[in-house]
Amino acid sequence: MKRSRRTKIVATLGPASDTPEMIAKLFRAGVDVFRLNMSHLPREKLPEKVEAIRAVEREFKRPIGILVDLQGPKLRLGAFAEGFAMIENGASFVLDGDPTPGDVHRCYLPHPEILSALEPGHSVIIDDGKLRLTVTEVSEARAVTRVEVGGRISNRKGVSLPHTVIPLPAMTDKDRGDLEAGLNVGADWIAVSFVQRPEDVAEVKKVCAGRALVMAKIEKPQALTRLDEIMEISDGVMVARGDLGVEMPLEQVPGVQKRITRSARRQGKPVVVATQMLESMITAPVPTRAEVSDVATAVYEGADAVMLSAESASGAFPLEAIAMMSRIAEEVERDALYWSIIRAQNSTPDHTAADAIAAAAHQMVDALDLEAIMAWTHSGSTALRLSRERPNATVIALTPKRETARRLAIAWGTHPIVTNDASDVDDMAFRAAKFAVRERFAEVGDRIIVVAGVPFGTPGATNLVRIAFITREHAAKA
Ligand code: PGA
Ligand code: MN
Repeated sequence: MKRSRRTKIVATLGPASDTPEMIAKLFRAGVDVFRLNMSHLPREKLPEKVEAIRAVEREFKRPIGILVDLQGPKLRLGAFAEGFAMIENGASFVLDGDPTPGDVHRCYLPHPEILSALEPGHSVIIDDGKLRLTVTEVSEARAVTRVEVGGRISNRKGVSLPHTVIPLPAMTDKDRGDLEAGLNVGADWIAVSFVQRPEDVAEVKKVCAGRALVMAKIEKPQALTRLDEIMEISDGVMVARGDLGVEMPLEQVPGVQKRITRSARRQGKPVVVATQMLESMITAPVPTRAEVSDVATAVYEGADAVMLSAESASGAFPLEAIAMMSRIAEEVERDALYWSIIRAQNSTPDHTAADAIAAAAHQMVDALDLEAIMAWTHSGSTALRLSRERPNATVIALTPKRETARRLAIAWGTHPIVTNDASDVDDMAFRAAKFAVRERFAEVGDRIIVVAGVPFGTPGATNLVRIAFITREHAAKA
């Protein structure tokens, strides 16, 4: 089974989509990676969801990626005596450490370390941006604020602090438990929410210890100030526009999306553009023109993947949303302008053998107008460096490691296949040619590019690129 686009699709599972039958339909409609969102999925349900996805993987004999998304330190207000209060613009409102239910003058903020980190001038945003306070005075146990945008404030609403570096670890106790559970069921990617510092990612990577790759969700302005370091330590990033749009002026989000996408592409780390991509399809079978344009923009920028959240998790039209996303990506990728835009953002190879080989393979594809680069890879890093080149040919990653194939499912332009390691140079070329035919990337008479490292079985030794000719014998064995 071969997809006819380079850009991958990540879909969040939820009540609208998480039965085994539905997961199979979603996969057939175009999903490459399923996201399990621990903000909503009870931990004890994780094994059965993963098993349902793995069953689809076996049925279609194609590797599928699983992204377990940790909730992160989401801050919330305490309760109100009447369940809510109406606060007025210009009024003063106090956040304090007193668990007594709140009223129109004050409310409990059950995070003492945050009260002491607030400073005059900092914004406190409540309920996804519906209310906005500015801190005027602080002391140990309380912060006095001025109400900039008032309204109805109610029990346990979410709190965002765009200016305050929060002295909280990246992982809550719940996250630690969810992470352990995710690793136990064999998640391929772990997403870390509300990353502020590179250390936040480092902490999760340490627990993962290579068992899963780690994706930093960029959803706080604090992360943008240290984007390069965060990018460096992460295996991939997500442009998490939902919370980003709450924590910073909405009009800045498109520019930030471009900045993150370009930075990720430079480093060859997979980048996912997420949230509200086809939002209106939660309730309607067709998206708005603006949403179609939004998905197309992410594709034109060369994002590795575009993501669906509520559209696939709880909407009325999950299959239609995936089919729509798929069609948008296919159409954009057929546009000659797409390739010139993508090329304009390509960066120079690093001074490594792997990058020299990737650049050479890219040139050969262009010079000979070929469709497939067959890359023998253990960790997947050779395939990722080839994907970073954004060549006009599919990178078919041949790997003995199932987890490598699953991890690569998110990467632009890759088609991973699990197969035994090549035994020698003849076997390397012969089986590459056979797979190119079997997966319908080439026919008798075509040429393909083969990339590998010899001696075989030495990770990180990519040192060979060659052109192979597809013969009748390859076709007969395919
Ligand atoms: P979430 O993350 O859906 O877990 O909040 C994505 C986002 O904030 O955009
Ligand atoms: Mn978020």
